[in-house]
Amino acid sequence: MTDPVQRGYAAYTRRAQAWTARYQERGGRVFCGAGCFACCNMPIRVSLAEALVTAQALTDEEAARVEAHARKVLHNARTAPDENVYVERHRTEVGFCPLLDRESGGCTRYDVRPTRCRDTFSALPARYCEAGAWEAMTRREREGYHREVARTPGTDGELHFIAPLEHLSEPVWAAAAKAMRAEWGLEAWGDFWVMTTLARRAAFMEQVARGDARGAWRAAKAAGLAHAAVLEIG
Ligand code: SF4
Ligand code: SF4
Repeated sequence: MTDPVQRGYAAYTRRAQAWTARYQERGGRVFCGAGCFACCNMPIRVSLAEALVTAQALTDEEAARVEAHARKVLHNARTAPDENVYVERHRTEVGFCPLLDRESGGCTRYDVRPTRCRDTFSALPARYCEAGAWEAMTRREREGYHREVARTPGTDGELHFIAPLEHLSEPVWAAAAKAMRAEWGLEAWGDFWVMTTLARRAAFMEQVARGDARGAWRAAKAAGLAHAAVLEIG
């Protein structure tokens, strides 16, 4: 199940490096680098196939921290009145990923981080990635931001993240979806920390392996990890 995802990651890395080299030769800038982590408090959506890659690499202690984070995600999902509040609270209250080393700013599980962590690159300085950056801008600053984004190569014209690198990761999702259908006859997608925790739960994975979507949902519910905003099975 994890082989197609790992092959997808390898192919993504090759394509992204080639794209980034061409982009930089043409004068494009990538502001991401080691120790930069303002994006590590964003919500992340993954397939169960991807979550398995991370789950299998974690120690029990890391898995416990991921589960504690997943329970904060669940609390936010149950109480946030809408998606905007959900995202804002995720960044400010649920907080940074437990796999982040706050001292160094590095990802402690860089080799098994999910697609979204691999394809998020900024064409503007990291201060624009910080939680609350947009809310703190005046109207004039927001207009300036939009002008800057519109004239910066590589963005989608709306946000400062580099759009072609995000698109390059779509084959990883397609490969994960195909592998889940072939192996289990169902697909499961959801929040990164919730899915990673469920991927280590035998009761959940047994139902998934049987292709029993309802049974898998019941197992997630029994574990206190089921909510439509963070888990989709079907
Ligand atoms: S996306 Fe933003 S916060 Fe994340 S590494 Fe790049 S510049 Fe830093
Ligand atoms: S897995 Fe790594 S890169 Fe992704 S959010 Fe967590 S610490 Fe950041």
